[in-house]
Amino acid sequence: MIFDSFKILLISYIVFLNLGVFADHWSYNNEKHWPGICQTGEAQSPIDLEESIAIPREFHFLSMHGYGQITSAILKNNGHSAQLTLQNISPPKMHGGGLPGTYQLDHLHFHWQSEHTVNGNRFPLELHLVHFEQKYRNLTEAVGHLHGVAVLGVLFNYAVDDDEDFQPLINILDKIKNDVGKTEQLDNINVKQLMPRDRGGFFRYYGSLTTPGCNEGIIWTVFTDTLPISRNQVESFLTMKTSGNAPLAKNFRSIQPLNGRPLYLRNSGPINPILGYRPSNSSSAQVVSAILLIVCYFFKLIVV
Ligand SMILES: [Zn+2]
Repeated sequence: MIFDSFKILLISYIVFLNLGVFADHWSYNNEKHWPGICQTGEAQSPIDLEESIAIPREFHFLSMHGYGQITSAILKNNGHSAQLTLQNISPPKMHGGGLPGTYQLDHLHFHWQSEHTVNGNRFPLELHLVHFEQKYRNLTEAVGHLHGVAVLGVLFNYAVDDDEDFQPLINILDKIKNDVGKTEQLDNINVKQLMPRDRGGFFRYYGSLTTPGCNEGIIWTVFTDTLPISRNQVESFLTMKTSGNAPLAKNFRSIQPLNGRPLYLRNSGPINPILGYRPSNSSSAQVVSAILLIVCYFFKLIVV
């Protein structure tokens, strides 16, 4: 009898795990216990976007349509992040930029601090715009297919003043941050304002979801231009509550090994603010001009 009860308990536990119920109970404090491919995968995200190993690649321009529509959205505290889902519009779509198809926007969510680092530097905030290939019915179906999902990553840099475009979202965030599962409507949102103006420069690599089940085959695009955000605004994210009423002070996964995967970099041209450098041709042009100036100066001295 006791043995039978034990069997029932064991079977219930296995069913519970297989239903993925467990997947909702993971936490950023126990990454080592994230299940399956999160531990065994060899193409995981996030990674350090190391400029010195990035392969320059002239991808076509990333074409984005419908991101500037002004619409309403639902902001939700899902216990792991603040997640934003657009309402009442045909979904924004992107193609080009080396993507193998057309991808439609599913939702947006935030990580504080950034998940990706650039040359080892971590940023205060990272926005993920999660897309799925339009031939699939939804994100759940697409995530099971190679290159079925493409995520855009936007990194934020500290600025002295509050960013006005961002403030309406922060105001709504304050209303949901104390309760997991709580939602609030945000009016007049324009996703384009949550993306950098210069979308010509980006890192590209193939990785995974950064939360369990860590599915691989995800196309990552992280812009090299950033958006400003004040310390006050970031503070609102840091005080968001997770289950058990504990503050969700950190919701970024640790850096994963590259394991020989190629990391590509599309240069935007004039300047890449995230990298803080000018493209090599322009800096070599500057060096050549400087040498010429010095030569002319000495020549003038000798002649005079
Ligand atoms: Zn994310």
